Formats: sequence, C-alpha cells, structure tokens
Amino acid sequence: CGIVGYIGNQDSKEILLKGLEKLEYRGYDSAGIAVMNEAGVHLFKEKGRIADLRKIVDPEVSANIGIGHTRWATHGKPSKINAHPHQSSSERFTIVHNGVIENYEFLIDEYLSDVEFTSDTDTEVIVQLVEKFVNDGLEVQEAFRKTLERLEGSYAIAMIDRQNNETIYVAKNKSPLLVGLGHDFNVVASDAMAMLQVTKEFVEIMDKEMVIVTKHNVQILTLTGETVKREPFTAVLDA
Ligand code: GLU
Repeated sequence: CGIVGYIGNQDSKEILLKGLEKLEYRGYDSAGIAVMNEAGVHLFKEKGRIADLRKIVDPEVSANIGIGHTRWATHGKPSKINAHPHQSSSERFTIVHNGVIENYEFLIDEYLSDVEFTSDTDTEVIVQLVEKFVNDGLEVQEAFRKTLERLEGSYAIAMIDRQNNETIYVAKNKSPLLVGLGHDFNVVASDAMAMLQVTKEFVEIMDKEMVIVTKHNVQILTLTGETVKREPFTAVLDA
C-alpha cells in the first residue's frame, strides 16, 4: 500500500512505475497508474506484481501528469476492478487512496444513493463525492475540501481532474504522505524512498491538510482554508 504522483515536463509513467517498485517491499495485491495528456486520462491497473502492471502499460502513451498506487485491500477483494486508481461516474475525476474510510456506508446513504458504483472499495466513495459536489456547483478545490471534511478514518489521497492537466489534489489524515520538490516538477509519495529517483527535497504533510500541487508550486492548506508555510527537509536515505 503506497501512493505516488508526478507533475512536470517528463513522461510520468516510468517515474510512477519505478516509484511503485520502490514500494513493493511493503506488500500489496494489485497496482495501477493513471496518466493524463491532451487525449485524456489513461488508466492501467492489474492484479499482482508491478511487473504485471508494466506489461499492460501502453508504451505509446506519453503524459506529463499522473498518479499511481499499490493496494493492500481492506474493502473489496483483491481484483483488477478493485485496484486503484478509481474514477467518478463521468470519469472526470481519478483518485488513489491509502487507508480506510470508516464512514463510507453513511456517506453513500447520505449523498450517493443514486450513484452506480463500479468497485467494492471504500475509496470510490471519495471520488464520487467530489463529483457530486462539483455537479452541485462547487469549484473542484472547494468540492475536494468539502469531501475531506466529511471523511472519517485514514487517508493519503492524490486526485487528478480530466479538465485540468496542471494540478494534483492531495490530502492526508493518519496515513503517511510527502510532497517532493523539483525544478519544473513536483511529486507525491507515501514514502520518500519512492521518489529519491528524482528528488531528495521533501515537504511533510500533516493530518487534515490538503495540498494543491502544480509543476511550479506546492500550496498547503488546512481544511478551514488557511495557508500553511513549511520548510522542506533533505532525505538522507539511499535510493
Ligand atoms: N481501503 C482501500 C481499499 O481497500 C485502500 C487500501 C490501501 O491502503 O491500499 O481499496
């Protein structure tokens, strides 16, 4: 169970796959990546090893933004369908998540009773809720914030929006998450190990913070909207 994300000028898929391989030692049952370019979001997921995922990733697809996940199933059996990333019904929003959403059944009853779910995961509730709040008229960042406010449990999240290829939406509560800093790129990782291949500078994200990550900027916000300033640290691990 780990998450990775990349936004910059390079092709993201190799960076994401390498990152996931670095997280393999933690154990997992399935893995996936979603990368986005002008043509849209390209989703690849597979049960089993990262090597199995590699086999189904289309080498022709090149994309500067993407997210990836290794899953340790808590809700829904290990399978290709339950593997992350997960998408909202319109496929506009795509998410990876580590952790457990304890109140997911309540959230379905309260907000999503007319939504058709494609997986058995607690995770899908998050991305469906963002879409619901956007359909209700909220801006994406506000819909993301409103969703996070309603989640109980643990999460490290990275989300992309098909209508915006410049932003990764990130959040954390009780599951580890770091943002890694680069020149003309930024990355997201549940463990620095995954992204030492591209940077050693990381910013720690604290519980109940959300982060707006672009190629040139990392904006940390509390769920009540205050901007947080935090200095990066240099990871001293070997890649
Ligand atoms: N609860 C989520 C699931 O079962 C995420 C598990 C994880 O952290 O890998 O899909």
